[in-house]
Amino acid sequence: MTRHFDLLCIGGGSGGVATANRAGSYGARVALVESGRLGGTCVNVGCVPKKIMWTAGQLAHAIEDAAGYGFRVPAHSFDWPALKTARDDYVRNLNAGYERYLLSNKVEIVRGAATFVAERTVEVNGERISADHVLIAVGGRPRRPEVPGAELGLDSDGYFDLAVQPKRMAVIGAGYIAVEVGGLMHALGTEVTHYLRRDHFLHSFEPMLRDRLLEHMRADGIGFQTHFSLARVEADGAQRWLHGEDGSRHGPFDCILFAIGRHPNTATLGLDRAGVVTRADGVIPVDRLQQTNAAGVYAVGDVIGHHELTPVAIAAGRRLADRLFDGQSGRALEYENIATVIFSHPPIGTVGMMEDEAVDRFGDGARVYETQFTPMYHGFTARKVKMAMKLVVAGAEERIVGLHAIGPGADEMLQGFAVAVKMGATKRQFDDTVAIHPTAAEEMVTMKTSRPAHRSDIREEGKP
Ligand code: FAD
Ligand code: NDP
Repeated sequence: MTRHFDLLCIGGGSGGVATANRAGSYGARVALVESGRLGGTCVNVGCVPKKIMWTAGQLAHAIEDAAGYGFRVPAHSFDWPALKTARDDYVRNLNAGYERYLLSNKVEIVRGAATFVAERTVEVNGERISADHVLIAVGGRPRRPEVPGAELGLDSDGYFDLAVQPKRMAVIGAGYIAVEVGGLMHALGTEVTHYLRRDHFLHSFEPMLRDRLLEHMRADGIGFQTHFSLARVEADGAQRWLHGEDGSRHGPFDCILFAIGRHPNTATLGLDRAGVVTRADGVIPVDRLQQTNAAGVYAVGDVIGHHELTPVAIAAGRRLADRLFDGQSGRALEYENIATVIFSHPPIGTVGMMEDEAVDRFGDGARVYETQFTPMYHGFTARKVKMAMKLVVAGAEERIVGLHAIGPGADEMLQGFAVAVKMGATKRQFDDTVAIHPTAAEEMVTMKTSRPAHRSDIREEGKP
């Protein structure tokens, strides 16, 4: 027997849960299939446990800074197992909360791995489920380098299982996870060395942000080995060694973290039986309405291969449900001006165009306002962290097309400014907004002088 629904969501992570709940709230009959823990990557092995670890790192810095404010903090230690236990409990509560919310929207939760057996029909644990509309929201999983000994390292999923804090850690990768985990582990007292295959990290970000972050991380004592090409990993008991293609040997480490991007979870989904086409790398291409090439089959979230962020998966899924079950025709997510934060130490917040992109798009019409200063907080601390901000503006009206910040509080600062950028705010409107004093954020509305935008000096290797 095949059970039939209005909507079937494959995957109970950020995208699947949001879509199922929204559709259920409109009265649609919805089934959601999840093979692991409800909440997916973000809740279980992503944003949530990461943010808890980041906050612990912030606290470690704050304890250090407190001396400058007159506190005599006695010698302290950090109890990794205690935090891990509390973190795991917090995540388990979220898992239960997700289940309650789905049930309150009358979503049928099916536990198991779904595989397509026909168009808009899957099999889970031997049971067939079909639907008028099928959403693929299966997310992705971490990649590992294809070198001998790669199994001796951890990926981000394994990182959250660590029962004991590593003393010496090597981080391979140059994206969000590498800089976030490397930074927080250093703050918590682990000796961290980053191995980059090029000369820098965060290549798709505004160069000002990555330059300032690299300066901060180096000044903090984090190690960097650039132009490193990994040949193999070797173990000597519990110790791990990295071998470079140039014959170099690095270590010993008690933990190696691979953070080199993610694969979409599509290989075992039986997509050919559903008539859904993927790219060679398993990504499912969709149009602006999240529609795959197969009628009635949609995809949201990491599986579509860009903007791999929780709020993006949620927003795309909710809009899809609005369109399918609430008659909001044409409703779709605009993938422009999506703000993002890197939870580095210090954090980065960014929305819109990099300076380089603005030059390419607006030529001489692009200008830049920028500032760098020591926030008042660090006027009293031995540890000095600078704040840097950049506004990229375009045209005679100086519309703000890019807004970038690194420094304490940049993470919380960005959300409100993202609204302004999304609404098409101009520099004049920023100037007309009365500042909030004394804050670091006020500098965003008080920048005075501008310069013509120009392309950065940082070039990718091999490019002029
Ligand atoms: P997922 O959340 O991965 O959910 C997919 C679900 O599908 C999983 O639960 C999986 O078990 C299930 N599944 C897979 N195959 C099947 C199948 N065949 N049948 C049934 N179920 C299946 N984003 C942010 O915005 N902010 C952050 O701070 C942030 N931090 C991150 C930190 C880390 C370490 C990582 C790895 C990611 C982070 N992200 C962050 C990204 C964010 O987690 C993802 O963008 C988001 O989870 C994607 O949601 P999704 O619904 O596409 O997939
Ligand atoms: P990213 O896509 O951010 O970065 C992967 C990096 O790995 C690339 O920059 C690349 O470096 C490097 N790399 C790729 N292959 C190799 C290799 N073989 N050897 C060495 N380095 C390699 O991936 P992450 O895994 O860090 O994160 C996955 C996604 O999760 C992110 O894209 C992001 O969307 C999301 N995320 C979001 C967070 C947030 O919102 N704060 C936090 C964490 C994750 P190079 O540039 O040198 O080629």
